[in-house]
Amino acid sequence: MAKKAPAEDAGDALLAIGHPKTYGAGVPGVVRALAMSTAQMGVARTVLTLARVNQREGFDCPGCAWPDPSHRHLAEFCENGAKAVAEEATLRRVTRDFFAEHSVADLATRSDHWLGQRGRLTEPMLLREGGTHYEPIAWDAAFDLIAESLQALDDPDEAIFYTSGRTSNEAAFAYQLFVRAFGTNNLPDCSNMCHESSGAALGHTLGIGKGTVTLTDVENSDLVIIAGQNPGTNHPRMLSSLEKVKANGGRIIAVNPLIEAGLKGFRNPQTVKGVLLGGVELTDDYVQIRLNGDLAFFAGLNKLLIDADALDHPFIAEHTSGYDEARAHLEGLDWADLERASGLTRADFERVAEQVRAASSIVVCWAMGLTQHKNSVPTIREIVNFLLLRGNVGRPGAGACPVRGHSNVQGDRTVGINERPPQAFLDSLQARFGFEPPREHGADVVEAIRRMRDGRCGVFLAVGGNFVRATPDTEVTERAMRNVGLTVHVSTKLNGSHAVTGRRALILPTLGRTERDQTGGREQFVTVEDSMGMVHASRGRLDPASGELRSEVDIVCTLAERTLGEAHGIDWAAMRGDYAAIRSHIEAVVPGFDDFERKVTDPQGFALPNGPRDSRTFNTRTGKARFTVNELEIVEVPDGHLLLQTIRSHDQFNTTIYGMDDVYRGITAGRRVVFIHPDDRARAGFADGDIVDLVSTWTGPDGVEERRAIGFRLVDYQTARGCVASYFPETNLLVPLDSVADESGTPTSKSVVVRLEPTDGSPVGVR
Ligand code: SF4
Repeated sequence: MAKKAPAEDAGDALLAIGHPKTYGAGVPGVVRALAMSTAQMGVARTVLTLARVNQREGFDCPGCAWPDPSHRHLAEFCENGAKAVAEEATLRRVTRDFFAEHSVADLATRSDHWLGQRGRLTEPMLLREGGTHYEPIAWDAAFDLIAESLQALDDPDEAIFYTSGRTSNEAAFAYQLFVRAFGTNNLPDCSNMCHESSGAALGHTLGIGKGTVTLTDVENSDLVIIAGQNPGTNHPRMLSSLEKVKANGGRIIAVNPLIEAGLKGFRNPQTVKGVLLGGVELTDDYVQIRLNGDLAFFAGLNKLLIDADALDHPFIAEHTSGYDEARAHLEGLDWADLERASGLTRADFERVAEQVRAASSIVVCWAMGLTQHKNSVPTIREIVNFLLLRGNVGRPGAGACPVRGHSNVQGDRTVGINERPPQAFLDSLQARFGFEPPREHGADVVEAIRRMRDGRCGVFLAVGGNFVRATPDTEVTERAMRNVGLTVHVSTKLNGSHAVTGRRALILPTLGRTERDQTGGREQFVTVEDSMGMVHASRGRLDPASGELRSEVDIVCTLAERTLGEAHGIDWAAMRGDYAAIRSHIEAVVPGFDDFERKVTDPQGFALPNGPRDSRTFNTRTGKARFTVNELEIVEVPDGHLLLQTIRSHDQFNTTIYGMDDVYRGITAGRRVVFIHPDDRARAGFADGDIVDLVSTWTGPDGVEERRAIGFRLVDYQTARGCVASYFPETNLLVPLDSVADESGTPTSKSVVVRLEPTDGSPVGVR
């Protein structure tokens, strides 16, 4: 029997701290997944629904973007995939009675966990100007309200159109077409906050803003280096692939300030070894680097490889440019700086370099731990230098592997969700649809917030996501959102952004990935692209949570019709009626989708072309893979301060909080915690368990700015000295809006300078 949503928002009243785990998954992971699933769906629905996740004729997991293996298991999902599906396929409903009972002001006091546990939205809701409660509105009236608001703007650039990474290729393509036909490139998306730095660095050096490996490359690599990534929680099925790396004789090096259970070991619940024999140890060498020390780490390795002349000279000569300049720069680097920046010793570098020299093929995997720093783009360029030196691109078992955190975030970018679209894409769009698309770059996430803050945004529309909770500088972002005339969220569930509204607000409930889509009176399917460039179909199988739900494609195409009318002669009705019409447009506009409709009927899907991987061709300015010179930049931390990274708990997917535990790190029933090295805590004059405020300091254009997050429990943890960690969205308010990565504009959520202060004002240490 599905359980009722927890009535009260318990917060951290029952917080308990235990011992961190030393392995990921295992039978306990299965038990947690089933407990959460049956609580949301009941037993029968749980079995039926989970049996279809990531299956050939089933639906794609709405969690992360780890690829599906060619051989699918009966249970082809992880613990967090089950939680993601259960939250969407829940039997709980948010009805008009709920909104009548809870004012927007009340909802604004609730945690994202409490809001998310209310269940699925069931009908369109409107918040009138000056209103206190959302009230039902008919779809037609909602579409008219948005269309009129958009048409009333003086300039299309006064509208912002946000996309979260769950949006399908079909909905994303129709959305960007609508937005560009409307006249703007204001298409910020969640990529701006996650792998934008990867795209910028890889595009510059390899000519493609994506990874260059397949799943087979990873599983058959001689050495997999995992930097700034916690796969046990954020990409859990990756652990099965790492288990295969070990079984194939490969080695794993983890580079991470925090000791993470899922990097230490894996107990595969689908094997006897995993259930009865303690599973496998994963990481052979755990490098506990300082936050933001990764550029120094890879530069130091590159320096040692050059010193040892352990290089692939034929590859360098034939396929690369810029080697001499990079070599001269690396040879000039000072070891004292490399040690200080990385928090490592020369011996650490030597030890890793020896393993690198012994490896015939290398894959480097990374995630947010590398992409959310001021120098993230040069850091990832230095990883490319590392791969090029030994020819680890475009051959089996070797390459770059940025692991995407949202199921279709890569696909959305591929089909045009991009505030800085390549001119070639706009040319193809013009050729296909006969209108001149806007050529001026639009606003990314941070710039969008600035424009909302400065009163330059009349309409904000988000397809999916939880914008206000996912973004930095929460207090600034909330004020900015309240400064907008109309805010519109296309959502499946309630979240914090629904309580932080413009002067008027709409919530438009949409179908989830798990649900049957019969828009246009036919069984529709959508497509997604995973981290390794594989495109495959996803078919919803459950009855919609409400008869009032509409698909993202339907919502976007209908809105386009209402707003643009006959303009440009784009046939929105045809796209709404048959998503194959959208796929034929994608085939015409986006390279690599030729014969799209036939190829996507293959249950395994198809691989998009990837020059570096497929043929060592590099669509760069030099026509070669580019070595680069990346200046060593060290985040200076003043005395009495520490470097903070914002992280997810194990019961969390982006800003969706499935539960209040973080079992891998020993946390139960609470989220306001700070993980700190015992020596740093003692040096700051605190005891384990003390409650502190986190105060970030940042020198902005108007001098030093301070931001305070109140009431966090100190938890002794295995973290690099000088580095602390705490969960987002609770600590996003500490990240200044204008503190972004160079070139990519990604918020610097992984290197925030903070100090600790006693919360209740009593002198440090007196308890
Ligand atoms: S690894 Fe990612 S995509 Fe796969 S089931 Fe888990 S959350 Fe879903």
